[in-house]
Amino acid sequence: MRRAKTGMVGAVMALSAVTAAAQAKTQGHWAMVLHGGAGIIERASMNPQTEADYRAALKQALEAGTAVLDRGGSSLDAVEAAIRVMEDNPLFNAGRGAVFTADGKIQLDAAIMDGATLRAGAVADVTHTRYTISLARAVMEKTPFVFLAGAGADEFSRQAGLEQVDQSFFFTERRWQSLVKQLKKEGLPIPPRPEGAPPEPKEPMAEIEPEEAHKFGTVGVVALDRAGNIAAGTSTGGTQAKRWGRVGDSPVIGAGTYASNQSCAVSATGTGEYFIRLTVAREVCALVEYKNMPLRAAADEVIHTELAALHGDGGLIAITPDGQLAWSFNTPGMYRARQVEGGTIEVGIYADEP
Ligand code: ASP
Repeated sequence: MRRAKTGMVGAVMALSAVTAAAQAKTQGHWAMVLHGGAGIIERASMNPQTEADYRAALKQALEAGTAVLDRGGSSLDAVEAAIRVMEDNPLFNAGRGAVFTADGKIQLDAAIMDGATLRAGAVADVTHTRYTISLARAVMEKTPFVFLAGAGADEFSRQAGLEQVDQSFFFTERRWQSLVKQLKKEGLPIPPRPEGAPPEPKEPMAEIEPEEAHKFGTVGVVALDRAGNIAAGTSTGGTQAKRWGRVGDSPVIGAGTYASNQSCAVSATGTGEYFIRLTVAREVCALVEYKNMPLRAAADEVIHTELAALHGDGGLIAITPDGQLAWSFNTPGMYRARQVEGGTIEVGIYADEP
């Protein structure tokens, strides 16, 4: 027998008693979960100051988003607000601080999706927009399209009046040194230092974190507003030393980003190729929608069973309209934070934290 689509009412009725009890606490309340990338993030190799900086940055971004929710703003506005804070923070691989392509450029990707309407906007390989997430939103709201890429997306950004910056705005010495190190290791040519970048430091940088860490740092946010609507957004520089116009999962609707009030909102991070093949974000939502799985179980199924089977690495954050929150990752760490209205802010980095 085919299951009749009864929308939110059906989905809510199908919840188990346990979930329903937990859910009652969050009904009508806002909630938010965010990530700042997953990867080989280990206590042993983390400098205490860097760790403190990451924790403060995650908290700051969460507070920017929850401030919007707390004054009755929409989940979409909250997602955009929190992501913009992380795009401006050089710690993350999004906006300023993004990783470089093999030819020494910054090419940014982002997507945003509104769970209430299924409207979505995405951009890939954009080069001069300060806030990539806002460009994705402009695509959603000001064009008949969902996904713009490359020179056309840059052109639309200018026409739509989004803030434009030089490529040097995104430059960080840490990412540059990390690129040079990787290219040397792979025997690839080292591109010239980007125009407008500060002069090369005389002394080598005191601390370059493990190379692996630099492949990650994508940012993503999912939110639930008081009206019961959810949204998701993701922003990234992609993977370090990417070539040939490579685009990862982050801006691909259904892979790195997805939101539907019928199921859940998801933002993923990790090696994008696996997330595209598995349509990870939509897969989690499908398990929630069609198998009535609790969110946490659905997220774990996709990350620890399906992604692991392909030897993929990464994680995701997710939220449902009834207030279930989840994160799941198969890497040693994932920068993350969450809060439910009336509750405390939880920030985590390593796998052994709650
Ligand atoms: N998923 C991103 C990509 O493949 C990278 C990341 O999340 O770290 O472009």
